[in-house]
Amino acid sequence: MSTILVTGGAGFLGSHLCERLIARGDEVLCLDNFFTGRKVNIEHLLTHPRFELIRHDIVHEIFLEVDQVYNMACPASPQAYQFNPIKTIKTSTVGMVNMLGLAKRCHARILQASTSEVYGDPLVHPQREDYWGHVNPLGPRSCYDEGKRVAESLCMNYHLEHQVEIRIVRIFNTYGPRMDPGDGRVVSNFINQALRGEPLTVFGDGQQTRSFCYVDDLVNGLMRLMDQDQTVGPVNIGNPHEFTMLELAEEVLRQTGSSSKLQHLPLPKDDPQQRCPDISRAREFLQWEPKTPLREGLEKTIAYYREVM
Ligand code: NAD
Ligand code: UDP
Repeated sequence: MSTILVTGGAGFLGSHLCERLIARGDEVLCLDNFFTGRKVNIEHLLTHPRFELIRHDIVHEIFLEVDQVYNMACPASPQAYQFNPIKTIKTSTVGMVNMLGLAKRCHARILQASTSEVYGDPLVHPQREDYWGHVNPLGPRSCYDEGKRVAESLCMNYHLEHQVEIRIVRIFNTYGPRMDPGDGRVVSNFINQALRGEPLTVFGDGQQTRSFCYVDDLVNGLMRLMDQDQTVGPVNIGNPHEFTMLELAEEVLRQTGSSSKLQHLPLPKDDPQQRCPDISRAREFLQWEPKTPLREGLEKTIAYYREVM
């Protein structure tokens, strides 16, 4: 049994991770400042003897004794991370230093939840880990993209200078139950709009692409990367099947049986045109690949939103 700190543990991905670690027999310290996290996501774990909830902000230091740290804390939807851009930057920089310092003191292994956004609006397709990216350092997404890029650099430098065992995962768009219905991300928006009979808000012409990974596959990938013993470079974890936003909208309409129409709205500034992971490294190092096709993952996600509506 290990003692594992999950920052951002009350969020979408963090709550699934906490659940899996508890099920495996670990002791979980779930830390969250509840900016985008929700108590309802972890309500079922609160009475578990190996689960502990800590309300805290990683921008401030904290002293805990743990074996592993999953640093998931950071708002992930553009709407949320642009709400207070300076705070977003602090979370990925000052917060990252605090978590790396904690890992160094405890000799704990630390996994950083990085993002496909480090590739920006990529000029190389699909994206491999050795691509340096195409990021606007001053645009509205930069608080997130550049924050995550600094966080990766901090991890690498703590590894080189202090031998901290780091794991960097570049997460591509992930969806599933417990995504906040109001967080503005495309999958939650489309499903909730379809279920309410409202128009599906397609930004731009809807020809931009994303590759959607179901949350269970993603969590498997995170745990595999954390638990193998090599410190390799960053690893893309995502589903390499690429869809346009129009295709996603059509699939959501088909599965929900909704008669909602499409409403085209302006494309947000610096919205990446194409995004798809090259997952060769994850396949080779982790023997990992996603198992859940979009159709099946959407079914489960739609069932969840129907239940909570
Ligand atoms: P989320 O917004 O649901 O969860 C983030 C959690 O972090 C929330 O519970 C929030 O309250 C908490 N948090 C934010 N700032 C904090 C701070 N300063 N101190 C303590 N807690 C804080 O988002 P998510 O989709 O679960 O994403 C989790 C992580 O994975 C994030 O780091 C995100 O950047 C990364 N990621 C997610 C995706 C995705 O598609 N879901 C893609 C790429 C990267
Ligand atoms: N998008 C959309 N309608 C919405 C929300 C998002 O068409 O209601 C588009 C958005 O412009 C982007 C894609 O869907 O091209 C994915 O957006 P999301 O915010 O989910 O994540 P991103 O990958 O951009 O961080």
